Amino acid sequence: MGCIVMKFGGTSVGTTEKILNVAKRILDEKKRGHEVVVVVSAMGKTTDELLSLANEITHEPSKREMDMLLSTGEQITISLLSLAIMQLGGEAISYTGWQAGILTESVHRNARIIDIDRTKVERQLKEGKVVIVAGFQGVDQYGEITTLGRGGSDTTAVALASALSAERCDIYTDVDGIYTSDPRSVKTARKLSEIAYDEMLELAHLGAGVLHPRSVEFAKNYDVPLVVRSSMSAEEGTMIKEEVQMENNLIVRGVAFESDIVRITVTYEVPFNGSLAKIFTTLANHHIDVDIIVQSIMDGITPSVSFSIKKEDFAETIRILNSEKEVLGYTDADFEVGLSKVSIVGSGMVSNPGVAARMFDRLRQEGIPIKMVSTSEIKVSVVVPQSEMLQAANALHDEYGLSPEDAEVSL
Ligand code: ADP
Ligand code: ASP
Ligand code: MG
Repeated sequence: MGCIVMKFGGTSVGTTEKILNVAKRILDEKKRGHEVVVVVSAMGKTTDELLSLANEITHEPSKREMDMLLSTGEQITISLLSLAIMQLGGEAISYTGWQAGILTESVHRNARIIDIDRTKVERQLKEGKVVIVAGFQGVDQYGEITTLGRGGSDTTAVALASALSAERCDIYTDVDGIYTSDPRSVKTARKLSEIAYDEMLELAHLGAGVLHPRSVEFAKNYDVPLVVRSSMSAEEGTMIKEEVQMENNLIVRGVAFESDIVRITVTYEVPFNGSLAKIFTTLANHHIDVDIIVQSIMDGITPSVSFSIKKEDFAETIRILNSEKEVLGYTDADFEVGLSKVSIVGSGMVSNPGVAARMFDRLRQEGIPIKMVSTSEIKVSVVVPQSEMLQAANALHDEYGLSPEDAEVSL
């Protein structure tokens, strides 16, 4: 039997009791004859607590020192889990990211994995040990500790699964699978037995926090079978794979949402003269993630471009726009905070015109104003006031027949 990668998130390892339960689960898998690599997150809310400790000292912390700080969270879990496995009679060894050979680019707080040196992990697997790797962290070519962005342990797990040609990567979490929307906020959300990589990728990018987007990217690019399941029950989870059955002919597979969006509007007195490229190149050079862009140039109207960013990038975006004002050649920059993004996702949309129109109509009936729109072949996103985000998500979930009773009707 081959190798399996099991990943346990923060809630699943939140207490020593839970860590002992996880250890039992790992040993059960080992007894079935698999080689087992385990990836874990920091215990419970540890990462948030570390962030607020730094915040007590400074609001503009050095990114390098933040990686040094945040990477300690996962290091606690790996050692405790290794001890728990030994206590239950198993053999285990824990590794930090760099010990496990996880090489990343030289970017702090949001690094990408570029290579994995499997030597040490494979040697320990051959010796029959469970290898426990700290999620969310790696090392760059200069020996600096880096982290992969919030939720990045999922990506560590899938990247290891791909490097080790694992049979499967199981993501154990506090829900029993991927739902049609976040079950915490959309009560009628329904568990999916399977979902396509592309749909999951969109949902993850559009705010469904259940999987780190890069983990899905990795799984898709390297064909890693990925399962999301509960760490508390034996319930079957959701399989994420290339092709899936069109369930009940539903056009929309899921609804995702994301709060804390800011819209920036930049106006010009004169036509752009190439400054549109300049503005986005400048922001990209500073690693500012620009999402939706709306540009309008019409005779008789002041040229303008609006774009959306995340709130965490707001202060830096304003700082860049101010300091580069002359080079960028704009007249005014305005912003609107308190916004959110709600999206519908489904590969069935490609061949179904009118999906977006139906979305706008439902939001109009709900009295929810739409500030921005963005579409692709398999998703439609709208920016709406944050105060109405959950109302919009629930309404759209209902509109496209995703709730259980609706699903039966549309069979
Ligand atoms: P972990 O600590 O295990 O990594 P996360 O909190 O990162 O767990 O992810 C699990 C959470 O993702 C769930 O508790 C759920 O609220 C949220 N979530 C958001 N969208 C979805 C979805 N479509 N399906 C399932 N869970 C979702
Ligand atoms: N501990 C990190 C976080 O809370 C990484 C992870 O949990 O995946 O974001
Ligand atoms: Mg997570």
